[in-house]
Amino acid sequence: MEDLKLTIRDIPDFPKKGIIFKDITTLLQDAKSFARMIDTIANRYIGQRIEKVVGVEARGFLIGAALAYRLGAGVVLVRKPGKLPSETFSKTYDLEYGTDTLEMHKDAIKPGEKILIADDLLATGGTMAAVVDMVQQLGGDIAECCFMAELLFLDGRKKLPEGKVYSLLQF
Ligand code: IMP
Repeated sequence: MEDLKLTIRDIPDFPKKGIIFKDITTLLQDAKSFARMIDTIANRYIGQRIEKVVGVEARGFLIGAALAYRLGAGVVLVRKPGKLPSETFSKTYDLEYGTDTLEMHKDAIKPGEKILIADDLLATGGTMAAVVDMVQQLGGDIAECCFMAELLFLDGRKKLPEGKVYSLLQF
């Protein structure tokens, strides 16, 4: 996986000074890297009867939709406020400075459905912890939270259900 890691580039001081942002667009735009990333993650879940893949706006949609297609599952969107057209519920969570809110359709998941949650990158874990809470509120049975990349030094996985976190690439 070292060669796949090299397709992700560092952008210093984005979105603000002092942050080194992992730019995954360079992995996505390379056909072989994109296919390898999706196939490797999907292979982990083939045979697990995943019913829905939950993707987190916005880069999680790209990964979640491709995984769902490979797994024969449906796709569920977790979006920023005001974007989903039907009846929603929301979850507000803490950021380093301030808060953020995510929304889901109330009927997106039925109790007991087997759910895989997908996002591009695990940093502090706050975003995924909020999504886990929302999926659990709807009664979803979470198989795992999967990420293309994980920033190990932030230890975000400690905010997530133990033993249910998978990342393809670690930094
Ligand atoms: P967390 O809530 O701190 O774990 O941040 C994860 C969310 O922020 C994910 O939805 C990521 O898309 C985004 N994110 C945070 N840092 C980066 C980065 O370096 N590259 C790409 N996305 C990032």
